[in-house]
Amino acid sequence: SRTFVITGAGSGIGKTTAQILRDRGDTVIGVDLRGADVVGDLSTADGRVAAAAEATRLAGGTVDAVIACAGLAIPKRITAAVNYFGMTEFLEAMQPALTASAAPRVALISSMASLQPVAPPLVDALLAGDEAAALAIAAELEADPQTGNLIYSSSKQAISRWVRREAPGARWAGAGIPLNAVGPGTVITPMTQDLLATPEGTAMVDAVVPMPLNSHQSPESIAHLLIWLTSVENSHCCGQTIYCDGGADAVLRGDDI
Ligand code: NAD
Repeated sequence: SRTFVITGAGSGIGKTTAQILRDRGDTVIGVDLRGADVVGDLSTADGRVAAAAEATRLAGGTVDAVIACAGLAIPKRITAAVNYFGMTEFLEAMQPALTASAAPRVALISSMASLQPVAPPLVDALLAGDEAAALAIAAELEADPQTGNLIYSSSKQAISRWVRREAPGARWAGAGIPLNAVGPGTVITPMTQDLLATPEGTAMVDAVVPMPLNSHQSPESIAHLLIWLTSVENSHCCGQTIYCDGGADAVLRGDDI
């Protein structure tokens, strides 16, 4: 059995992933704002470091895999803080515990939205690691209802590009740690329940994320992929965002791979 740390374990995809792993006998240390083994706030630099330290302590110093699910989809600046730095800085802080494992693995959740229109200055500030600049740009985007939604897509494009940049480097591949992302389509979780509750909301989502294969997906559909990416069997998948989205990427990106 392996020891997993899962952020966002209190709800949706993270909760489902934690349950599947616990049911099969693995140890899971959940991190979330409330009701988790580690109660912490990944929207702040201090919160990320404290949560990683507490997760490492509870694991006894060795963590076999980290699955970063915690995220927000609201058109506000905090979405940039949680979705990007709440993953990158948390994962970096978990590195010592991962390198103590014989088969360390990391997976995080990006989105189909990484392929949608973004605010390039926000993506650039995130990738530069400049949280103050990123939050200032996000605050401007937040102030205009026309641009608020670009915060989410920008955070997800930046996280997929971070994975691609970082995964082959010394810190991850060089330390024997596969680092990859999953890009879901529309998953039925508390994050999407209000949108999917009305025909208008559903039509809006489906126009942006067409899912010809089996339509909206269960959290399990993503959980099983996260579990494989963080399994011992994954020896060579590196730096990818794997879209598991009912065909949305194939429809929208077509030949442009
Ligand atoms: P969810 O809202 O059910 O769960 C997200 C969890 O993250 C919650 O438990 C929440 O408390 C936690 N979280 C939020 N802010 C936090 C913070 N500051 N510190 C610690 N924890 C925090 O959502 P979900 O649908 O399970 O989403 C999980 C991931 O999947 C997110 O990164 C989301 O962007 C991504 N995603 C979801 C969908 C979808 O359709 N649901 C699609 C693509 C990508």
